[in-house]
Amino acid sequence: MRRFFQDVPEELWRSYSWQIQNRIKSIEELKKYIKLLPEEEEGIRKTRGLYPFAITPYYLSLINPENPKDPIRLQAIPREVEVDEKIQSLGEPDALNEEGEIPGLTHRYPDRVLLNVTTFCAVYCRHCMRKRIFSQGEKARTKEEIDRMINYIKNHEEIKDVLISGGEPLSLSNEKLEYILKRIREIKHVEIIRFGTRLPVLAPQRFFDDDFLDILEKYSPIWINTHFNHPNEITEYAEEAVDRLLRRGIPVNNQTVLLKGVNDNPEIMLELFRKLLRIKVKPQYLFHCDPIKGAIHFRTSVDKGLEIMQFLRGKLSGFGIPTYAIDLPNGKGKVPLLPNYLKKREGDKYWFESFTGEIVEYEIKEVWEP
Ligand SMILES: *Cc1c(COP(=O)(O)O)cnc(C)c1O
Repeated sequence: MRRFFQDVPEELWRSYSWQIQNRIKSIEELKKYIKLLPEEEEGIRKTRGLYPFAITPYYLSLINPENPKDPIRLQAIPREVEVDEKIQSLGEPDALNEEGEIPGLTHRYPDRVLLNVTTFCAVYCRHCMRKRIFSQGEKARTKEEIDRMINYIKNHEEIKDVLISGGEPLSLSNEKLEYILKRIREIKHVEIIRFGTRLPVLAPQRFFDDDFLDILEKYSPIWINTHFNHPNEITEYAEEAVDRLLRRGIPVNNQTVLLKGVNDNPEIMLELFRKLLRIKVKPQYLFHCDPIKGAIHFRTSVDKGLEIMQFLRGKLSGFGIPTYAIDLPNGKGKVPLLPNYLKKREGDKYWFESFTGEIVEYEIKEVWEP
């Protein structure tokens, strides 16, 4: 469904560069489509230069302008609360300690490394965990910076998995992407390459480019991690983008962030994960919202996340249920969270809670020494 831009021919609508060139970035432009709330107008004004605003025509067209609480509107249009004194004081710019010695490189787990290759994004998500980089403007890393990161990987044989993120890593030109992929693939100890990209959600037209898909396919195995947060984001365009990736042998996994007012509702989450399975995307993580400066108002309680996890069990195929995880402060890593299904234990006797809520006694013993 295209709520706005109905006069734009389908051929242009399907063009990624048209979507990027025609991003809406000002109050005046935005007002042509949506009657802004006072806190949104003030929000755009007060976040200028600090947490800038941009939205693709495609993503904007998913907003129901009649609904001030529309989940896409909340994710994409700034509100004054982002610069509220209390909200600002409660968050940290880099709550997960990503910044280290080499600009753009975070090496937390021995076998995996995270590369941040650009500050550019198609849409500046208001809940972004890297909101700190918004004020740096829209710039890709230089060749020298990229080479430094790649040399680091070369010198660390324990690295098996390179996770390329940003900003929006797949906003880089095909040439730049090919350069990075080629250089990483030359390193023998690297096994897989992953992209953390939100383009399947914000501008799925990126994946309608066969030359680009040729490059991704060439440097296989490549995995995609994307970021659908709400069932309204699963459109025929998103489905086509995912389908084109899958046909090239690139699996697509999803990371949802639990966001107050956007998706902190068991029924909405169930619909989201069910729709993701329909388009063959595996829900990998449900992240608890990090305490990011300028975004902490999206945080819910941990109980809300556990309630959603409990609700999903028994209502959705097991592989459609993501791991609920929270990132510990100071870069201590991710921790999975589950409702407690083991209610009591005495020796080999266990009392489990079933998916229907029944308490079931079960004796479990080892019975054989081979
Ligand atoms: C989340 C994260 C990863 C990847 O973790 P997975 O559980 O493998 O998806 C790697 N490096 C950093 C710094 C991370 O925050």
